Amino acid sequence: MALEIVDLCVNCWACLPLCPNQAIQASQPHFEIDPQSCTECLGNFARPQCAEICPVEGAIVDELGEALYPPGSLTPHTCMQGAAPPA
Ligand code: SF4
Ligand code: SF4
Repeated sequence: MALEIVDLCVNCWACLPLCPNQAIQASQPHFEIDPQSCTECLGNFARPQCAEICPVEGAIVDELGEALYPPGSLTPHTCMQGAAPPA
């Protein structure tokens, strides 16, 4: 089992230091996950750490190509939209 970084990645470096298996490499045109090293964080964390920190919806997908955080999942819930910004 391994996750994959796709071309939506903006090379922000946020995920790289969090991987318990050093499976993430800086690369061009985008960062990459070594499928031989990625364990999906099983045994280390309850959730894949790269996907948890990644600010870009859809940038990290599972083996089926399904985004861990698909478009819309990281945007505020509709009940928050229109709320006044903090003073
Ligand atoms: S899922 Fe976990 S082990 Fe796999 S690349 Fe992301 S942080 Fe590393
Ligand atoms: S956190 Fe997301 S956008 Fe940033 S380098 Fe990792 S995969 Fe790319």
